[in-house]
Amino acid sequence: MVLKKYLLAPGPTPVPPEVLISMALPIIHHRSPDFVPILDSAKKGLQWIYQTKNDVLILCSTGTGGMVSAVNNFFSQGEKVLVINGGKFGERWVKIAQAYGLNVIEIPVEWGYSVDVNRVEEELKKNSDIKGVFIQASETSTGVYHDIETVGKIVKNYEDTLFIVDSISALVAHDIKTDEWGIDVMVSGSQKGFMLPPGLAFISVSDKAWKRNEKSKMPRFYFNLKKERENLAKNQTNFTSAVSLIIGLNEALKLMQKEGLENIFRRHSLLAHATREAVKEIGLNLFPKGTPSNAVTAIEAPKGIDGQVIYKTLREKHGVTAAGGQDKLKGKVFRFAHLGYADKFDVIVGISALEMTLKELGFPVTFGKGVAKAEEIFSKEENQK
Ligand SMILES: *Cc1c(COP(=O)(O)O)cnc(C)c1O
Repeated sequence: MVLKKYLLAPGPTPVPPEVLISMALPIIHHRSPDFVPILDSAKKGLQWIYQTKNDVLILCSTGTGGMVSAVNNFFSQGEKVLVINGGKFGERWVKIAQAYGLNVIEIPVEWGYSVDVNRVEEELKKNSDIKGVFIQASETSTGVYHDIETVGKIVKNYEDTLFIVDSISALVAHDIKTDEWGIDVMVSGSQKGFMLPPGLAFISVSDKAWKRNEKSKMPRFYFNLKKERENLAKNQTNFTSAVSLIIGLNEALKLMQKEGLENIFRRHSLLAHATREAVKEIGLNLFPKGTPSNAVTAIEAPKGIDGQVIYKTLREKHGVTAAGGQDKLKGKVFRFAHLGYADKFDVIVGISALEMTLKELGFPVTFGKGVAKAEEIFSKEENQK
């Protein structure tokens, strides 16, 4: 049989045909008048999805480049920052901040849990010199969502402290209100919820953060957000724009605007809910003990079966690319994304392939149990409309 491929990983995610076609057109010059309305419309679309009046800058890099720019544009060496570290990407904040000479204090969060928000308030009270609080909205490695709204409201009371959110997998899957929740800097990436290939990072910057930018003494050249801001005001980017990706971004944003914010969030919440219920119906446990992410579901491998083998069997035998576990979760969990260009049948495909995989690996499953659960949830939701 041919092995048709299905991409159900938490990045890169599938790209809709409308977007693919738009990116296949001949390259236009990034300083030409043809490009101006495209960038203008993309930048407004980004403010819409970010729910912000702040600038949202477009960088030609992966999400991690956006994270680096959040560290080296707003701080100076030796300054103290607080990192909520509950997984692989929390660790990345720590590593980047340390690489740039910041004095990092951490709130370690056991993998699989959401941060206890009271701990943030405690640390801020204990250390009056904390200049920034760094967090993930959705910690992709553990499938957990942190309570950004509450942490944002806490940090807002500290005049000298910026609230910096890695929303790389969360944006689009969760309703995140940048301005209302006091998020000063928020990073996201093209290949997660945005239905685009890898290669762009987006970063919003509040007035409070721009003021800090003036004082920041860290060396920078490529990621110079002040220069990006000046250029974006003229519908340009500092260096050569990633023309095709930005054309694709504009198309993807049009699709999202057609669907509407509320519907996008509802869809992600429904897909996540159906995935979780189906997995439990099969007899597996979800990994998160805290609030689960709507972008990705992390599932515990059953006793005696290696999670990496599940992940490899899904891909090699069934053509379904999910994700394995990272670092200390390797072998212990595997993950299905329901992010971006995803609908109910992506969930059904994933759950069906999982049932067959588990059976092949000797785990007792009744075929169709998980699939039926997902179908039940989708059909109920549709009849309510
Ligand atoms: C994917 C991801 C990143 C890293 O993004 P890259 O594009 O691989 O650099 C960072 N944080 C989170 C939460 C992610 O999901």
